[in-house]
Amino acid sequence: MNCLADFSKLKIEKILKEEFSQPSYRAGQLYKNVTRFNSYDEMSDLPLSLRDKLKEKYFDRALDVEKYLVSTDGTVKYLYKLNDGNVIEGAFMTQSYGNTLCVSTQVGCRMGCAFCASGIGGLVRNLTAGEILSQVLCVNRLQGGTAEKRAVTNIVLMGSGEPLDNYDEVTEFLRLVSSPEGLNVSERNISLSTCGLVENVRRLADDGFTVTLTFSLHASNDDFRRSIMPIANRYTIKEIVDAAKYYFSKTGRRVIFEYTMIKGVNINHFDAKRLSELLKGFPCHVNLIPLNPVEEKNLQGCSGAEAERFLKKLHEFGLSASIRKSKGADVGGACGQLRRSYIGQGK
Ligand code: SAH
Repeated sequence: MNCLADFSKLKIEKILKEEFSQPSYRAGQLYKNVTRFNSYDEMSDLPLSLRDKLKEKYFDRALDVEKYLVSTDGTVKYLYKLNDGNVIEGAFMTQSYGNTLCVSTQVGCRMGCAFCASGIGGLVRNLTAGEILSQVLCVNRLQGGTAEKRAVTNIVLMGSGEPLDNYDEVTEFLRLVSSPEGLNVSERNISLSTCGLVENVRRLADDGFTVTLTFSLHASNDDFRRSIMPIANRYTIKEIVDAAKYYFSKTGRRVIFEYTMIKGVNINHFDAKRLSELLKGFPCHVNLIPLNPVEEKNLQGCSGAEAERFLKKLHEFGLSASIRKSKGADVGGACGQLRRSYIGQGK
């Protein structure tokens, strides 16, 4: 059964007219309620009889917060329960320029990256556009926001799942969340992170999207990348950089390369040199992320001093780079960690 958040206002208008013989002004009322993350019980501006009929065909909400944890740095980690009982997670982070919500795009993930908790257990299923949108609607409401004055100002598609492996629902989500009738979040304030599904990167540009694209590179050569990211067997780093350049040429949006620093493995002089050769002359930025250790995985993060040393090397080679502060580490901040511990407890 679909949830109401799966639909645009136009589609809601069509459904109300065709399935419930309702006049078009009801669409505006219902859509406003959906955007506010209201339950049927709270939609008091709609006749009870209509709400009862809607209830039989559509869920009012796609998810509920099952649990949340507040980090010492203020990050709130949410665990949501979907209507079919599956759980997904997200993180709400406050910054000086606004508040960012990290959303999941799939239950689990089939990319199988060696350092990531989301992929343990593989892909369970894709999320629908409405399930992705509902994470934003839900947290916006919980944090005291409205459609007019949003508490969630920025969105990153960096929770569990590979967004470009769920292309249709993710792009529909982008349309819904940026729609002026809904939350109206500008694509400039949305980042999509991908392990580099090259065809879909090009398709995203061709389809006219202008979100900030972030590529999870994590390696400076293909051999090493293949050892930590199975997707590297399908695409080379060169192919990914070419797709990134295509996206930039079409959208004018500067892309970001994410590079998780793993102790003693991918942060030596030659890595810095190779990265600079790969990215030379391309207006992009490298985000260095200290590896967030995952219990089940035998990989270690580097020290602050090692991270600084690698950053300095990249700067010496002329790259634009910075170290991204890891947020919410004490509350399972990295992808899939909270869900993992929840499932692990057999709950
Ligand atoms: N599938 C997408 C988006 C989800 S992951 C992607 O691959 O980009 C968001 C980012 O967190 C990715 O760069 C991912 O590689 C990184 N990540 C996952 N687990 C991590 C960990 N344990 N420590 C540091 N970064 C991690």
